[in-house]
Amino acid sequence: MRRTDTHYHLDQVPDPLGLLHRCERDQLALITPSMNPASYRELLALQAKSSTILQVACGLHPESIHADEEIEEALNLARTAQAVGEVGLPGYERKVTKRDVQVFTKFCRVAADENKALIVHAVHDQAEPALEVMLDCGVRKAVFHWLKANARVASRIVACGYMVSVTPEVTYRKRDQDLLRLIPKSQLLLETDGPWEHQGPYQGKASIPHWIDDAAQYAAAVYGCSLSSWWEQHEQNVDRLFF
Ligand SMILES: [Zn+2]
Repeated sequence: MRRTDTHYHLDQVPDPLGLLHRCERDQLALITPSMNPASYRELLALQAKSSTILQVACGLHPESIHADEEIEEALNLARTAQAVGEVGLPGYERKVTKRDVQVFTKFCRVAADENKALIVHAVHDQAEPALEVMLDCGVRKAVFHWLKANARVASRIVACGYMVSVTPEVTYRKRDQDLLRLIPKSQLLLETDGPWEHQGPYQGKASIPHWIDDAAQYAAAVYGCSLSSWWEQHEQNVDRLFF
């Protein structure tokens, strides 16, 4: 059965094609968000070589600063992309600016107008302001990728019908475990955010999509279902958001 890693930056690994073939062999599918237009083009070229990439999303990583021309180009490309992302509001590398909110609003409008899935990076204090922008723009389909937020904000996101994703860190990190318990199984997605290096048992290694199997085992135990029925649910969630 297909198992999808819903957030993998395949263009950021040294041998993307090699990893893609390993995923193909092991029945792992990928949703690949992009960092900028160059990253988007690279991912489209990889998708042309393998049906393992279900969708390539077009976005601008919000932690980086982008030139006006790059923003315009990404917005134009996003209109015809399969999905929109990764976009959102910065929280780790720098403080959010008015311009960040304006850029995020523009991407939300594209997702709303074209009824495409939006892959959102907005963590901690930025999750709720991002939610407000999405609701104002009428975004219907979105995932708060690797969400870190308090219970009140997480519950608001769920009540709005959006999805939330967790990574293999859910297997050992209490913060992510508490979050998962607030998310109904029809609104949870799994991802690695690879090749990001996770902590705990994953420390020191670039993440590979195969690690979502650990997160799946954990989710199945929490929801009290078998691993195969969890995967069935998860893949339905993937289809509902992205197709
Ligand atoms: Zn990412």
